[in-house]
Amino acid sequence: MVIMKCPACGAESKLTFVEDSYEGPRRCWKCRGLFTIKIEANEMKSCEPLSEEDFARQQEIEALKNKMKGR
Ligand SMILES: [Zn+2]
Repeated sequence: MVIMKCPACGAESKLTFVEDSYEGPRRCWKCRGLFTIKIEANEMKSCEPLSEEDFARQQEIEALKNKMKGR
């Protein structure tokens, strides 16, 4: 489990992943801010602000990835 601390409002969210690494978009539950987060070995490596446009694009990529995994 990884605790993500929102750089904008400081709200913490607990994230769980199947694997211990993750790179992708996340939305803060509190301020609705968008970020690209990168996790390695259950540690937050980076958290970059993300625009709505980029968020939509990244979600598409994630959806595609998940589709491919399911096959
Ligand atoms: Zn926030």
